Amino acid sequence: MAYEAVIGLECHIQLNTRSKMFCGCPAEFGAEPNSNVCPVCLGLPGALPRANRAAIDAAIRLGLALGSEIRRASVFARKNYFYPDMPKNYQITQYDRPLCEGGALPVLVDGEERRFELIRVHVEEDTGKSFHPERHGDRRISRLDFNRAGVPLLELVTRPVFRKPVECGAFLTVLRRLVRWLGISEGEMEKGHLRCDANISLRAAGADAFGTKTEIKNLNSIRGVERGLEAEIERQRVVLEQGGTIEQATLLYDADRDALAVMRSKEYAHDYRYFPEPDLPVLIAGEAWLESARARLPELPWACAARLASQYGLPAYDVAVLTDQRDLADYYEGCARQGDGKLASNWVMTEVLRVLKERGWALAEWRRRVPPERMSRFLARVAAKELPGPLAKQVFAWMIDEPGDVPELLERHGVQVRGSAEELRPLIRRVLEENPGPVGQYLGGRAATLGFLVGQVMKESGGQAVPQMVQELLRAELESLRGRA
Ligand SMILES: [Zn+2]
Repeated sequence: MAYEAVIGLECHIQLNTRSKMFCGCPAEFGAEPNSNVCPVCLGLPGALPRANRAAIDAAIRLGLALGSEIRRASVFARKNYFYPDMPKNYQITQYDRPLCEGGALPVLVDGEERRFELIRVHVEEDTGKSFHPERHGDRRISRLDFNRAGVPLLELVTRPVFRKPVECGAFLTVLRRLVRWLGISEGEMEKGHLRCDANISLRAAGADAFGTKTEIKNLNSIRGVERGLEAEIERQRVVLEQGGTIEQATLLYDADRDALAVMRSKEYAHDYRYFPEPDLPVLIAGEAWLESARARLPELPWACAARLASQYGLPAYDVAVLTDQRDLADYYEGCARQGDGKLASNWVMTEVLRVLKERGWALAEWRRRVPPERMSRFLARVAAKELPGPLAKQVFAWMIDEPGDVPELLERHGVQVRGSAEELRPLIRRVLEENPGPVGQYLGGRAATLGFLVGQVMKESGGQAVPQMVQELLRAELESLRGRA
């Protein structure tokens, strides 16, 4: 029988606020274990939480970007559970009245725009981290670090809209780009800023009813999400084909071994005994707040991509590369606004990105050295054919480490490019008039004659023109003669 997979994702986005969700402890990563803690995030008696406005603001901006409905009065809830990494023995989250509901993330899958619908986005706090078990003599011990306990998280839950693991990978790639674009999270899956659980069931192709679902936890890379889901689809398919039934369960995917392990049988919502958090007031997101959040939203990545494509006539590939990061798209536009959009795209995508990779720089470092205005002055010279290909690359390389624009750099390095296109054109026309034989041969199909003509122009210029440039101009001139003939 043919089966169809039905997959929903639950993503946790760690926000990059300075402080934790309900106390003033730093939310930074990498501090000495258990140094960023206080009575509130340790759940000591009598300590009272206070919600972090910056975290809620980030949730509102994400909700607006996704087209979610923002609830004007949402409620924090206590989710009771008893793992050692949760010092309070409960997590403050949102339950039946979350901050954001509905909305969708537009994602290109195989060149086609899909809108993957969401159920909700809500605000909560992270747990601590446990490291276990370790051997100490004859005892086995676990270590706990509560620095992460209370760090702000958003939980984003999709409808069961995915049919293939690759769609989930595409969704996460776009979600990661969005949270970085909005500046609300670093979005590194490998560092746990973006974590993903998936629930998955199989049903006979064409059926409406859902099968029994399992949940895969802690998928910590996009590749891991796809491979974990593929493994689970295969596992369920084999069980169903042998006439078995799927048990509801929570599984852990081990990326190193590409294997699934049953972690625990699934909890149900009632196991958590949710109730409204008595220590926090109802969260009011009034019109003024929403208005201000809307005003602070940047142009969204998909809108930016559509605009770059139409405004600068860029192909889909260029658009995808340039809008991968907001500061890159912004830098590109700074370079392209005055000149040739495709030329700027070629240089930014290939040369600028290559230098960043080679030198391990962030774009900010590049931008400090070569601001877009400087880059566009350089590109204008390239567009005017004043710098033939190899020389343009050489000047570009000098620009990285030296000050000055093109004329200054050429002078400093003792390179003479005498003759702009305007100066060379009369020379070229004269050579063409004086050499009707070779011109006729070239137009007749003997491309090799071009070399002779280049030589003549070089001689006329006293050897000071750049051969590549002469060649390009000559070829253009000859083509226009051909057009007229
Ligand atoms: Zn604290």
